Amino acid sequence: MSSDEPSPKYIFITGGVISSVGKGITTASLGRLLQSRGLSVTVQKLDPYLNVDPGTMSPYQHGEVYVTDDGAETDLDLGHYERFLDQNLTAASSVTMGQISAEVIERERRGDYLGGTIQTVPHVTDLVKERVRGLAEREGVDVLIVEVGGTVGDIEGQAFLEAIRQMRYEEPRNGTLAIHVTPLFHLKATDELKTKPTQHSVRTLRSMGIQPDIIISRTDIPADSGITDKLALFCDVPAEAVMTLETASSIYQVPAILERAGLTDLTLERLGLTARPAQLGRSIDSWLEWTDRLAETDRVCRVGIVGKYVELRDAYLSVKEALIHAGAQRSASVDITWIQSDDLDHADQPEIAAALADVDGVIVPGGFGERGIEGEVGVARFALEQDIPYLGLCRGMQNMVIAFARERLELPNANTTEADEHTDAPVIALLDEQREVTEMGGTMRLGRYPCELMPETLAYRLYQSEFAYERHRHRWEFNPQYRDRFERAGLLASGTSRDGELVEIAEVCDHPFMLGSQFHPELKSRPERSHPLFLGFIDSVLAESETALRHPVGATNSSH
Ligand code: GLN
Repeated sequence: MSSDEPSPKYIFITGGVISSVGKGITTASLGRLLQSRGLSVTVQKLDPYLNVDPGTMSPYQHGEVYVTDDGAETDLDLGHYERFLDQNLTAASSVTMGQISAEVIERERRGDYLGGTIQTVPHVTDLVKERVRGLAEREGVDVLIVEVGGTVGDIEGQAFLEAIRQMRYEEPRNGTLAIHVTPLFHLKATDELKTKPTQHSVRTLRSMGIQPDIIISRTDIPADSGITDKLALFCDVPAEAVMTLETASSIYQVPAILERAGLTDLTLERLGLTARPAQLGRSIDSWLEWTDRLAETDRVCRVGIVGKYVELRDAYLSVKEALIHAGAQRSASVDITWIQSDDLDHADQPEIAAALADVDGVIVPGGFGERGIEGEVGVARFALEQDIPYLGLCRGMQNMVIAFARERLELPNANTTEADEHTDAPVIALLDEQREVTEMGGTMRLGRYPCELMPETLAYRLYQSEFAYERHRHRWEFNPQYRDRFERAGLLASGTSRDGELVEIAEVCDHPFMLGSQFHPELKSRPERSHPLFLGFIDSVLAESETALRHPVGATNSSH
């Protein structure tokens, strides 16, 4: 922060008309762009729903639950922020109206407001402002970018907007910036872009006392200056502050598009900030170098993701992004086939072979509940027998262990007690600390724990380190009673908790690549630093596809 500007600056990003217009990516991109000007930045999401966190929501409602190092279960936008900023966030970056309401009630019961009538203004709004300012001040950043979930006009979001209005009044004139992100609709019949929904949305925002400083309009087709001029006139925003953001081939292109549109310069100017040299690796050039690599791939890596929530791709967002990062590092684009695991629940081997016909490797990602487990175990078994590269993420590791037990330990009923409480071979069982747990929210084994890696294993070779620190979100684990039997049969516990009790990584020795982690490595993959487990997997998939090319008929991988 320049010495004449001691207090943090706040950028508020709201969305209009519909969700999914790219508000999260815009927020993350602006964060990265400000970093490229040498500024320190952090990001916060304000989610209007009344759940305390998305941890208890179905992935169909909310997509992936992103977990931070400190174990907060958060909105998937935090994943975008971490990936674009290459910065770890904490629970303080994820604020929901559920948390705010719960805390206001707790304070009321404690007697903090004794004698007062508790109201949205000022009690709820004060607490929102406390959370926003508290984060910026604790982190000592130059800029805090705050994204408001949902769209302007939602009943749930009103208290957040009122808190923002107050902050804009209380902070210095150049202390805050309001950016509104809306879609432009293309009408096929007349082949024109319509600005009216944006005009209405801005009107709604202004009725809440917030005049946007910048409008970013998402569009699927190019918009001419007629459109931006019209928006400028009707929304009271100078034409240079109306920017159009054309749908990009990759979300990672968005920072470059916004930079070209002048967003960074305008933001700095409006907030009275002076650019400094970027920290190492944070310049715009280093980002562009990476995105160029993304565009210049010369191979295709075909991966199947076999999970129970595949109809909603956002449920596995970080897995998809981690694959893209690892692919780019190997000049490969990743072609993902999404396979519904419960469709395979009673499938025989030929059916599984057909489902996997177009892929050279499989990932079984996280999941909860019985549905889909049998299909995933079937896939793991097929990968085991056919030497197909397999990466298991949390539940995918558990299913790999079950498949191995059924195939190689003569335990045909091996199972997880999550699916069969009375199985006579509970190779996956509840964590001890989970046995007495009765509440569902925030009670899993969550967040960052160290993992010790066993020398001379695949895991050790990939990490090239004795320790890894990875993020968790689970209740069940590898049952230690079976560990010796597994190891004798060739399934190694190559990563464990520090006390050696919990199996964190399991791998099959006699296989090109069959490895599962109890944690979620996908949450730590970054564009310019892909995750070693994903990189190892991609290498193995590329090797598999090259073998298949050399021996096209009935080929299996023989490169141990
Ligand atoms: N349902 C399993 C457990 O709770 C797996 C969790 C996951 O995949 N995140 O342990």
